[in-house]
This record gives sequence, C-alpha cells and structure tokens, in this order.
Amino acid sequence: MKFRLMGITNLSTVDWPGKLVTVVFFQGCDLRCPWCQNVDSIDPSGGKNADTDEVIEHIKRLGPIVDTLVVTGGEPLFQPEACLELLKNAKGLGFYCAMETNGGNPQALERLLPYLDFVAIDIKTPLSDSKLYARVAGQMRGTDLTNKIKESLKLAISSKAEVEARTTVVPTLNDDERIVARIANDVKDVDCLRLQQFRNQCTLDPSFQKLSMPNRERLLELARIAKREGLKSVKIFTVEGGLETV
Ligand code: SF4
Repeated sequence: MKFRLMGITNLSTVDWPGKLVTVVFFQGCDLRCPWCQNVDSIDPSGGKNADTDEVIEHIKRLGPIVDTLVVTGGEPLFQPEACLELLKNAKGLGFYCAMETNGGNPQALERLLPYLDFVAIDIKTPLSDSKLYARVAGQMRGTDLTNKIKESLKLAISSKAEVEARTTVVPTLNDDERIVARIANDVKDVDCLRLQQFRNQCTLDPSFQKLSMPNRERLLELARIAKREGLKSVKIFTVEGGLETV
C-alpha cells in the first residue's frame, strides 16, 4: 500500500529507555499547533512516496537488532490504512509496537489498538476547555476535537495497551499550575502522564520562537502538582535531564 513517509530512524536507543527501537515517521498532520516543532511533518504532500511492503521488509531486516516499532509523525492516524498494515505485520513478526498520536481519530485508533502494546496520546490542555484546546492545536473546531480525544483516551484505557498522556508545556498557552492540575485530573486513569518541554526552535508560528523554554525546575514543579491529583506515574522530559520519573 502506498503512503507518504517522512522518514525512518533505523535504530534509536535513547528515546525509549530499555528498548531498541525503529521509528517510522508518517507524513502529514490534521492539526496546526502554532508551537509545533516538527513543522516539516505537517504538510500531507511533503515527505516522499513509500510502500508498506517495502517498509515491512526493511523492518524485517532490522529484526535481529531491533525489538520495537514506534509509529509517529506528523500524525500516524492521518494515514490509518498504511499504519494498520505496518503495525499488523510488525506485531506478526514479534515486535513490541507503540504509537504516538494526537488522539483526533478515535475510529482509526480503535482498529489499531489490538496491535499496540503502548500508545501515547497528546493531551494539550484540559479536555473540558475546548476553546483553549482549539488555540493550542491551531483548530477552529475545538469541541469536536476534544470529544474525539476523550473518545480516544477511553478506548486506549480500556485496551490492553499501556497508555501515556503527553502534554507539551508551552508558555502563554498551558504553562500554568491550574491548567496542569486539570489535565492531570482528566487523565487519572492512564498509566503515566509525561510533561515535556516546549522548544523554541523552528516553530510553526514564528512568534513562538521568541518565548523562553520552561526549564527543568518549572517542569518538576508542574509535575509535582499533577501528581497530587492521584496519578499512577508522572514523568518529565527536558533537554537538561532527559526522561525522569517524578
Ligand atoms: S505538534 Fe500538533 S501540528 Fe505538530 S505534529 Fe503534533 S499534532 Fe501535528
């Protein structure tokens, strides 16, 4: 099956502690987060043509070294059929399968969940605040989007996959104690909440490049607030400290 591919990282040992990972980056995203740092991945016509059969063969060859396949983007569920094809095959080959998604396509997620061991879903702001969500995600249709993300979260939690909610802490949008507490409350049933640092290089909206990155201490402070909401696990991810459990 043909699809648009942004690229493949054959072997990563740093992003997923304890795992030897191949990452497939799908091209295209349905959101337009103004602070997005993966700008080249957004345009659906960007990247290059690829074929799922060829990518599966490639993954097979990496099999002796790699044990995990991560599909990400862009937004992998922007091309659900190709994503399903890859995950189904990788699972059949015995890979641990993981996906990072913005959560905006619950119907597609439901079809993929049987093949996923791990799913990370972006929770960019509290799900009860559709106006703010629309701003953070660069969308007009905030209510529609938050309803879809709520559905994705529900489906993922009721599946066998490990579920991580991910929030990028962006100054002027969600770098706020009350907002983070509300996000934590929305995702109480996930296995982990990861707060990650906004980076001010190459953002979709150039005005975000003038903002300072929240530092590790700030993320630790917010993570402690999130933890008080009763979450099983809270992690932070920063340039200074990498991935840390709080
Ligand atoms: S940050 Fe937003 S726009 Fe960028 S890839 Fe993720 S969901 Fe898409």
